[in-house]
Amino acid sequence: MTEETKAATDFGADVFGEEAINKYLSKDTAKKLQATIREGKPLDPSIAGEVAHGIRHWAMDRGATHYTHWFLPMTGSTAEKHDSFLELKDGEPIMQFSGKNLIVGEPDASSFPSGGIRSTFEARGYTAWDPTSPAFIKRHSNGATLCIPTAFCAYTGESLDKKTPLLRSMQALDKSLKRLMKLFGRAEGHAACTLGAEQEYFLIDKGYWKKRPDLVLTGRTLFGAPSAKGQQLEDHYFGTIPDRVISFMNDVERELWKLGIPAKTRHNEVAPAQFELAPQFEELNLASDHNMLVMDTLRNVAEKHGMKCLLHEKPYAGVNGSGKHNNWSVAFGGRNLLDPGNDPHENAVFLTMLCAVIEAVDKHADLLRASVAGAGNDHRLGANEAPPAVISIYVGDQLAEVLDRIENPKGAKHEEKGSLKIGVDTLPAIPKDATDRNRTSPFAFTGNKFEFRAPGSSVCCSGPMTVLNTIVAEAVDRIAAELDAAKVAGKAKPGEHTAAFHVALQKILQASLKTHKRVVFNGNGYEADWPKEAEKRGLPNAPDTLSALAALSKKENVSLFEKYGVMTKRELKSRHEIFLEEYANKVRIEGNTALDIAKTMILPAVRAEYLEVAKAYNETDSSNVKIAIDMLHGQMTELGSGLVKMKEAIDYLQDALKNYDTADTLARMAELRKIADSLEAVITSEKWPLPKYREMLFLY
Ligand code: ADP
Ligand code: MG
Repeated sequence: MTEETKAATDFGADVFGEEAINKYLSKDTAKKLQATIREGKPLDPSIAGEVAHGIRHWAMDRGATHYTHWFLPMTGSTAEKHDSFLELKDGEPIMQFSGKNLIVGEPDASSFPSGGIRSTFEARGYTAWDPTSPAFIKRHSNGATLCIPTAFCAYTGESLDKKTPLLRSMQALDKSLKRLMKLFGRAEGHAACTLGAEQEYFLIDKGYWKKRPDLVLTGRTLFGAPSAKGQQLEDHYFGTIPDRVISFMNDVERELWKLGIPAKTRHNEVAPAQFELAPQFEELNLASDHNMLVMDTLRNVAEKHGMKCLLHEKPYAGVNGSGKHNNWSVAFGGRNLLDPGNDPHENAVFLTMLCAVIEAVDKHADLLRASVAGAGNDHRLGANEAPPAVISIYVGDQLAEVLDRIENPKGAKHEEKGSLKIGVDTLPAIPKDATDRNRTSPFAFTGNKFEFRAPGSSVCCSGPMTVLNTIVAEAVDRIAAELDAAKVAGKAKPGEHTAAFHVALQKILQASLKTHKRVVFNGNGYEADWPKEAEKRGLPNAPDTLSALAALSKKENVSLFEKYGVMTKRELKSRHEIFLEEYANKVRIEGNTALDIAKTMILPAVRAEYLEVAKAYNETDSSNVKIAIDMLHGQMTELGSGLVKMKEAIDYLQDALKNYDTADTLARMAELRKIADSLEAVITSEKWPLPKYREMLFLY
């Protein structure tokens, strides 16, 4: 085995997982801890001391001198505050890590956005260990830190992070599914959500990046004329991965494997210099934490390779942006409920889930849209290559026909005597891969899971996943309640259902589909007609962050989150405020950056070019060829009027910023960019102060 192949066998070496637990803890404690992890229960305080002791030894064996509670504050990044194991006892240094240090932390962390939840002075922030996401080691170039994944909340218990609502939403879905599955004769088991997050990103040479204040400060280019060659030839997509990039990817994957993250797929994406990494799916909460580590690792390793990894949704205009496809599914008792299944019983469960998801997405498309809203994604959603801002579901033609038959059994081609009995004899065996690939849908059924494609590349998965779990929990709960009311369950043996049960289920799904099938759209989401058709169907279309976020204050949405114990009214309100503020801040930073670049870099370059041409023109006399003089005059006029237009646009942008007008700032930035980009096309290349698209986008 070579060094390289050995890396694969190091999978999970930096995670306090099963192997480490068994090695560093006593048998009894190991068993208790494993049970806690499996059942997602709080840790038995009586074992905390021993667990902490074991974790410290394990971490120190791996070179860690410090530990931190690792959490997901509302900034959208991860947070850490390190403490060393070292303590002085009677003047002597000892290494120490107590059970209390493991279970709770008091980082205070008062500067994180709280949206008003921590307005009072005594409101400290607490972190609490989430044993379902194992502790891991973060390596630095000269040391290592033990990281303990935690939830972050206020002293009132109100959540201040992105993990807590996710965990609550998983509980809500678990509760609803237990209720439903019991009616299907499966009392035992619990719900397990899964997530596979495909991560798109761009790479850029660090030298170029450093010369672009817009990339440094905002993550995207605020100026830049398109390169003659972009993605038209589609020659980058799935092309041979260049060696410079492969060697980066290899290093990324080795680091991820050590962290127990099953990085699996890698390829060139559509835009030049754009790539994708997809891990194998995992339990949702773990996968969500892991995606944060994937983003961290991509950024860190790129640095070592003299590159920068851009996770912004739209670093470059005119080529594809980056998304993060959230592949989501839910299993119960170990069986994926979104798998069509082999027998009528499994099919009935599958169809019920399918209808529940359709109902959920139709009822709360506004919340799903809000969950992916943000300044970055505004440049991607609804743009030509991205899923449209209208949330619809793609199920494929075959399933569409099945749904049609549930809804209209009489009119269906394969009409049966009496009514259709779901999953019994009239339902065709649903092929395992019943769905074709439709890349234009924001929410697509893909064989045994749903793929939510609207999330942007930089988003923390927990937001969209919290919404999805909650809205599906509601739909499942509602269907279960109706089945309950029909009093048809429980008469048959598990797995065998009476005709009455099927008739009742059929009626419930029929009614649900009648109301909610409008959200099913199997056509091309990029067609210009679709938004018009969507409007006719009454589907919401929130084109930007501000209109999308409005969903968070709707009364029915507040009661939904409250009813399912995912967020209180106050928590939701605080989040709404945080998102609005984040949006305004980001646009403001962009506006100020654009202003700065325009005034101090672009304008001087245009002026220099103008003066040079003017000088040449003034030095000509009638002995020169007339058309050459005319040409110089024309160039001078173009540059001169460019200067005037730039100055005007700069003044407008300055006003918009002065007035704190977000929409106007964006509009003025766009105008300024248009002028600057057209000047880029006529100015001597070496005078242009910013690296060009043709340089940045072609790494090799
Ligand atoms: P594509 O690019 O065609 O969508 P990929 O193979 O790149 O497909 O990504 C599919 C993702 O979906 C992978 O991360 C995969 O592990 C994940 N996935 C597969 N089955 C499930 C499931 N049951 N639940 C959640 N994610 C899943
Ligand atoms: Mg995909």
